[in-house]
Amino acid sequence: MQTAMIISPHADDAAAFCGATIAKFANEGWHIILVRVTDDRKDSIGLTIEETIAKNTEELHNAAKILGVNEIIELGFETDMLADVPLGKLRERMVYLFRKYKPYAVFTFDPFGLYENNQDHVRVAQAVDEALWVSCFDKHYPEHFAEGLEPFSVCERWYFARQLPNVTHYEEIAGTIERKIDAVCAHREMMRNTINQYQLQLKTWGKQVAWLQESKEGNLKPLVGMFLQEQAKALAEAAGWDTEMYLAEAYRMERFGGLEPLFQMMAEPLENATPAPARVELDQPHETKVDEKQQAHLIPVDIHERVRLMGHHHLCAGAFDELLELPVFQLGYASLVEHLKPNPDLIVETVYGYGLFCYHCGYFSQEEGRCTTGWKNKIAKDVAVLDHLGLKPGSQTRLEDLQKLLAEKVPYEKLEEFCGPGGEGKCEMYALGVCQKAYSGLRKKYGIESK
Ligand SMILES: [Zn+2]
Repeated sequence: MQTAMIISPHADDAAAFCGATIAKFANEGWHIILVRVTDDRKDSIGLTIEETIAKNTEELHNAAKILGVNEIIELGFETDMLADVPLGKLRERMVYLFRKYKPYAVFTFDPFGLYENNQDHVRVAQAVDEALWVSCFDKHYPEHFAEGLEPFSVCERWYFARQLPNVTHYEEIAGTIERKIDAVCAHREMMRNTINQYQLQLKTWGKQVAWLQESKEGNLKPLVGMFLQEQAKALAEAAGWDTEMYLAEAYRMERFGGLEPLFQMMAEPLENATPAPARVELDQPHETKVDEKQQAHLIPVDIHERVRLMGHHHLCAGAFDELLELPVFQLGYASLVEHLKPNPDLIVETVYGYGLFCYHCGYFSQEEGRCTTGWKNKIAKDVAVLDHLGLKPGSQTRLEDLQKLLAEKVPYEKLEEFCGPGGEGKCEMYALGVCQKAYSGLRKKYGIESK
């Protein structure tokens, strides 16, 4: 099974920021390595440095056990002092760990995270982010190669933050939230110190909260549990999920960036490779499993005169010519590309539910008879697009008129809102830049000023 490596500046960061995901991965059989970068020597109240190191280390081991961590690696840097450690030195340690343990996925702070006031978090995020590419080079740190290590690249980069600049992935964690809460509570001394900071601030305000004192002295779980439950619920809500059933942790997850769609289409399995873990959002079947006879039946008899599109696919009509020329699109929709010949008089009929592209698409599950993209609120998205264009199911529009309408009503920002990475769609073709180019061509063609 694959290895996940969590690079945690402090003992408690792993549990607090990605604890439920770690526990879930551990359940799935991943090998989990937790790298603690600092010694947390100052994170306590009323203890000596030695006592603090011992206590926080013991509590880390308890928390790691709860989460299902297999290995803890201590880097032993002095806590709250990483800003004074040369970044290159920290980076070398990360490169070494990647080359030695070959993690499939790495979890750490996002170097672009917002509102981060802890320099240990910032420095670790920066060192890891750079190490992710430096580890691939055959001329960086040759002393590693003398040890028998080789260049290596981590596949998935899972970034968390106090506030992420861009959430690209919500992990569903209802099954492991309890273990996250228990693990965070296991960091008793660090939680007590966190509470203490609020108490001092409240004191300056001239107030106190009795519950904080009770929690600090006694059972942390009600307080920590409430906070983490509410946080996970808010994230599930942001994901568009039913919060009665689902909870979430949020990430900016990076794999191949803009090349993801291309690699999805073209990558073939390596011999003797450990199979990659399944990801609902990323690893779609991309094989329609439709035989030739079925394919023939999926081409509408009047495709030369009329195509039927679901709401948000109307946006694709603005880039028909460019999409049909695109190798990735041709691979994905081979049978369709052969038959679809857009012309100005082609009628685009608006439909509810699945349209022309859906049954031909690699994201469509033949077994389940549904689109597996996991797009949330797809109906809301269809309605939003149609409402914006002033169309309704049953509308019939000449392709040329529709393209003019799109040129007028869908400026760059609107296209990004509907199809871009931060929007509902996360469209692969948009990620390749083809639609932006097509739309700017349309605007030019119809003499519409781009805003
Ligand atoms: Zn921390």
